[in-house]
Amino acid sequence: MREKWQEELVKVFSSAKLNAAMKKYTYFKIGGLADALVEPNDIDELVNLYNWCINFNIPVTTIGNGTNLLVSDKGIRGVVIRLNDNLAKVETSNNRIVAQAGALLSIVAKEALKHKLQGFEFAAGIPGSIGGAVFMNAGAYDGEMKHVVKRVKVMTKDGKIEEWDEARLALDYRSSAVAKEEAIILEVEIELFPGKHDEILEKMNLLNRWRRERQPLDMPSAGSTFKRPPDIAGSFLIDKIGLKGFTIGGAQVSKKHAGFIVNIGNASAQDVLDLMTYVQKKVYEAENILLLPEVRVLGEAMETDLIQNAIKT
Ligand SMILES: Cc1cc2nc3c(=O)[nH]c(=O)nc-3n(C[C@H](O)[C@H](O)[C@H](O)COP(=O)(O)OP(=O)(O)OC[C@H]3O[C@@H](n4cnc5c(N)ncnc54)[C@H](O)[C@@H]3O)c2cc1C
Repeated sequence: MREKWQEELVKVFSSAKLNAAMKKYTYFKIGGLADALVEPNDIDELVNLYNWCINFNIPVTTIGNGTNLLVSDKGIRGVVIRLNDNLAKVETSNNRIVAQAGALLSIVAKEALKHKLQGFEFAAGIPGSIGGAVFMNAGAYDGEMKHVVKRVKVMTKDGKIEEWDEARLALDYRSSAVAKEEAIILEVEIELFPGKHDEILEKMNLLNRWRRERQPLDMPSAGSTFKRPPDIAGSFLIDKIGLKGFTIGGAQVSKKHAGFIVNIGNASAQDVLDLMTYVQKKVYEAENILLLPEVRVLGEAMETDLIQNAIKT
């Protein structure tokens, strides 16, 4: 059944999809129905949509390419705003690239290569959008977004458009002020430095080859399940206590890389959450190290004893 606000939404935003299956929009291929999902055509439409949601008191969830998400089996209430290639313009001037938030990191990396700019090779194989990457302060190998981001255009929770510099963004290990303040990233400016085309390409190819060799890229997942604890790889700890291949329902600790949980066929979000909780508990019992989730759990609450954040004393 459609609620009144859903009827109104589709009248104003013709591309809105009602009762959208989130499994179509997550790399994990998991998730219940969102009341509505809209992929704005441009920034103006995104701003109008957000203000419409504020006026009607409808909760908003913003997503990018869905590569770091575990969406509840019970779905997401309100409107999901998905930034896709409608909002993916990329422009380069001197050493700076300005990209709209929906641009994929791989596309921004290609732009950097085209202009012989180095410093973004680390991001070429991360499957997310640049908006999601700033939100998470994504990183790999020798790089992270924090090293390259100079400025971000955001819409704040109360609907104001602002430009945030590096200090205001406060990028830190898999965290940012954007995440804490529930802003929406619209545009990102990065600064790189001049390099040689062949060297940049070689490094991208090398890092991508390492990724293919080590990570289960052929399986649905959300990347690293847990954040890296200080001085040790979480995957090493999980492997050490024999959990590689451990399975609950359709969710499995990857046999290729213990840091990933993969969907081996029709996993529910509850299967993944139960497996995450199990792994967290076992590693804590064996090693006295608390693994905290890197994967973002979105939507209606699910039953879990998973500890999401470190308990501050
Ligand atoms: C195979 C694989 C490999 C991966 N490797 C890496 C890796 O090496 N390093 C790494 O750091 N990550 C890695 N990831 C995780 C993921 O790709 C990154 O976190 C990526 O930056 C997420 O971008 P996204 O667009 O998919 O964001 P989503 O998954 O869609 O969203 C992630 C979070 O960002 C928020 N968000 C997204 N876009 C916006 C926006 N425009 N404004 C405000 N909030 C927004 C969402 O609400 C959510 O909380 C990997 C994932 C997979 C599946």
